[in-house]
Amino acid sequence: MSKVEDFLTSVEESQIIDAIKTAEKNTSGEIRVHLEKSSTKAPLERAKEVFSFLNMNNTKDHNGVLFYVAVDDKQFAVLGDQGIDKVVANDFWNSIKDIVVNRFSQNNYALGLKEGILETGKKLKEYFPYQSDDDDELSNDISLG
Ligand code: CA
Ligand code: CA
Repeated sequence: MSKVEDFLTSVEESQIIDAIKTAEKNTSGEIRVHLEKSSTKAPLERAKEVFSFLNMNNTKDHNGVLFYVAVDDKQFAVLGDQGIDKVVANDFWNSIKDIVVNRFSQNNYALGLKEGILETGKKLKEYFPYQSDDDDELSNDISLG
């Protein structure tokens, strides 16, 4: 994999953005995807840095969720803000990660992200249902580092 931009085709990118939009119709939670080439840090540690770099803690209910991928390393982490983290079951993040990593192991990166995002939307509906006056607090675009 030479470039971060080549990790997903433009069709796959649109599918992922659509998945974010669909998920955010279930929940007030805000989902973002960040891709970068590589990191020397553990994926979850790096995801925490990216989370703060992208100002993802700036949501009213602290319910931002970051899907982080280091594309050359094929490393993935999912990280949620404290509003979510304190209400979901202990295995919540691992259950999302399992969905994504399972697809990654089959080289289905876009599908893994898509399924993980949709599942996050469904599960967050219980704790953070969609509000009719919802603001799109965090961009749905994929961010490239
Ligand atoms: Ca929203
Ligand atoms: Ca959003």
